[in-house]
Amino acid sequence: MKVYTVKWRCNDCGAIMTDCQVLRRKHPFGLDFYIFGCCFCKEINTLRQMCSMTQCNGEAVTGLHDHGIYTWVCEKHFKELTEKE
Ligand SMILES: [Zn+2]
Ligand SMILES: [Zn+2]
Repeated sequence: MKVYTVKWRCNDCGAIMTDCQVLRRKHPFGLDFYIFGCCFCKEINTLRQMCSMTQCNGEAVTGLHDHGIYTWVCEKHFKELTEKE
């Protein structure tokens, strides 16, 4: 079974971080959602989800279910994973 890592890239400083490094705060105006920030440059709303496959730095374009796990992958891995079915 594959191991997926949820990764994010900051569009501002280019840093790549794992899901648990991402800064999350309740919206300051009490709205019912969270804002996300880069843990390196502290910029908010600059994060793009990346392909969850290990070693892949492609930007996630689509999600799919693989063995019951929902994951985000790049175009290349989406093709690889879906062609096997
Ligand atoms: Zn950043
Ligand atoms: Zn990929």
